[in-house]
Amino acid sequence: MTILTPPLIFPNMTSKISDAQPRSTLQADRGQLPRQVPAPSHEELEDLARQSRLLENCTPEEIITWAVERYYPQLTMATAFGPEGCVILSMLAKIQPRVYVFNLDTGYQFQETLDLRDRIAERYGIVVDYQRPELTVEQFERVHGGPLYKTSPDRCCAERKIKVLHRVARGFDAWMSGIRRDQSPHRAGTPIVGWDKKFGLVKVSPLANWTKKDVWKRITDENVPYNSLHDRGYPSIGCRPCTRAVLFGEDERAGRWSGTAKTECGLHTTDD
Ligand code: SF4
Repeated sequence: MTILTPPLIFPNMTSKISDAQPRSTLQADRGQLPRQVPAPSHEELEDLARQSRLLENCTPEEIITWAVERYYPQLTMATAFGPEGCVILSMLAKIQPRVYVFNLDTGYQFQETLDLRDRIAERYGIVVDYQRPELTVEQFERVHGGPLYKTSPDRCCAERKIKVLHRVARGFDAWMSGIRRDQSPHRAGTPIVGWDKKFGLVKVSPLANWTKKDVWKRITDENVPYNSLHDRGYPSIGCRPCTRAVLFGEDERAGRWSGTAKTECGLHTTDD
C-alpha cells in the first residue's frame, strides 16, 4: 500500500469526541453537535482529488484504513444492508468496529432487511443504529393523504431518507458508502474520495473499483451475512413498496422504482 501521510484536509477542524468515550455517548452527542466542516477551499478539493488518485490501486481494506486514520471518530457510514454494505461491515469489524454505522429506517423496509441487522450484530459485534424520520409511517401517510411513494416517490425519499441523512451528517466529517462504479452509468464516475456537497461531508467509496463478482466472492469466501431476498431474485433492495424482483437479463437495479423514471433515491446524486 502506498504510504499516505498528508496533512489534515481541514486543519481548523478538530474532533471534540475522544476515542475513549463509550459508543452510546457518541451516539447521544451526534444530534447536538453544530456543523463544523466549512466548505473546502480549492486547494483542499485538489488535495482530496489527489488522495483519490493515490487510493485508486489500493484494496478496500486499505482505503477503509486510510479513512479511519484520517477521519475517525468523525467518520460514519450509512448502510441499507446491501451486499456491499455487509462486506464493508465485515472489513470494519477488523479495522475499527467503533465507527458509527447507521441505517435510514424509512419504516418501509423489508423484514428480511431488518433481520439482517441482528445477524450482522451477532457475527461482527457491530450494532447498526437506526435513524428514523420524525413522523412514523402512519403519521406521514395521514399528513399526505396516503402513501407518498405512490404519487411522489422523490418527495417520499427526500422526507424519509435525505432529510434524515442531513440530520445525521451534522457532527461528522466523512461518510462511507458501498457504491460501485459498475452499478449504473450514473455511478460510473464515482471517485474513491471526494467532496459530497449535498451533505457537506467527505465521501469515501472503498468498493468503487470492485465488481459485483468481487463483492459476492468475498461474501462466499468469508460467509458474510447477506439479505436472504438476494436468493429470491432481488439483486438490489430498497423499500418494500419500491422494490421488485428482476427478470433474467434485466439490469441489477431494474427492480427499483420499476415503471417510473426514478433510478436513485438521491443519496448518491448531486443537486447540480
Ligand atoms: Fe419512499 Fe420508496 Fe423512497 Fe422508500 S424508496 S423512501 S418508500 S419512495
